[in-house]
Amino acid sequence: MSPDQFKADPDSDVLIIDTKKEENRFSRFELIRWWDQKLLQNANILVIGAGALGNEIIKNLALTGIGNILLVDFDQIEPSNLSRSILFRESDRGRYKADVAAERAREIFPDINIRSLSVNVVTDFGIGAFFWADVILGGLDNREARLAINQNSLRCGKTWIDGAIEGLSGIARVFGPDGPCYECTMSEVDWKVLNARKSCTLLTREEMMSGKTPTTPTIASLIAAVQCQEAIKLLHGLEVITGRGFFFEGLSFYQDIITYKRKAECFSHERYTPVVELDAEARKLTLGEALKIIRKDLGEFAIMELRHEVLTGFSCSECGVDVEYHSSLGRVSDADAVCPDCGKQRFPIMSHQFDGSEPWPDMTLAKFGIPDFDVFIGSDGERQIYYLLNGDRQRILGPLVSKVQP
Ligand SMILES: [Zn+2]
Ligand SMILES: [Zn+2]
Repeated sequence: MSPDQFKADPDSDVLIIDTKKEENRFSRFELIRWWDQKLLQNANILVIGAGALGNEIIKNLALTGIGNILLVDFDQIEPSNLSRSILFRESDRGRYKADVAAERAREIFPDINIRSLSVNVVTDFGIGAFFWADVILGGLDNREARLAINQNSLRCGKTWIDGAIEGLSGIARVFGPDGPCYECTMSEVDWKVLNARKSCTLLTREEMMSGKTPTTPTIASLIAAVQCQEAIKLLHGLEVITGRGFFFEGLSFYQDIITYKRKAECFSHERYTPVVELDAEARKLTLGEALKIIRKDLGEFAIMELRHEVLTGFSCSECGVDVEYHSSLGRVSDADAVCPDCGKQRFPIMSHQFDGSEPWPDMTLAKFGIPDFDVFIGSDGERQIYYLLNGDRQRILGPLVSKVQP
């Protein structure tokens, strides 16, 4: 439809209203020819970020009757959030954003199946939920989290829709599993910023995650609306702006559709296949047991790989001493890295490959910093098998596990 054809009353895109038909909550949507409320009721959406964009995303999804949402955000509500977050109230200060947003979504749409998780999506969130989701929506304010979501979405063959806002401007971008991805769009400056923040000790994650960007509720509303409309279209199999971005500059009213190119040297385009669903939990399965499973499938020389590095110890260059230390990187602070003997900052020792020679065969995967419902990889150098810790499914998805309504 061209702009001069647009009028705010029924035209070729909508059905004629049957005035005798009784109206329900979603009656007006169903006047749109291609709209399928049942399809939305059965949809699984993973929303990451419950800040300014996330509030608008959750509000829109609840209003449109999306049935199943997993919402992930590890922040708590601060006074500055109250001016940009429709779902938060003064009395919510100090509570987890994800929990409050989920509660308010249930008030908007009581039939919604929404679950909140207050974890760090980069370090403490398994990839299993990306397999579960039909589409992923991001409302984030930092490159590191975007990069992690991008990689996980591509690994699972899923589309993710990113939103970014600053001042009165913003962009909504759709990244499909086969086209250009978020990493393909990253400039040298983006990498410099990311690496500069990572370079010191690799442990200043908390600081990295708390970028303070000037944003307004108006631009959050506009960009989140585009993200949600694209998600709804995608769920219906309609064409969306995959590999492109809708850019809007509010001060000058400049807008554009940006087309991205896939970079040949981009590292993010790895697909996790084949996936073997194991009836095992990260909190119970040991490194030794995991290696046994891998070697049964791939032979005695196969090794275990992880999808990201984990901390296995600290090294003090001053004292010349290495000590063992196991934790998720998301739960390690600079204070933990201080050497108890000399008081200097120690360097983290990281690993993402295990061949059974390590002295921890009885340590659980969780102790290594592997989150619930995650994947570990078996590799014999040529073939890879991706093992999903499916025993954690219920713990992460809760009521979302049995999602399909009759
Ligand atoms: Zn890429
Ligand atoms: Zn020392």
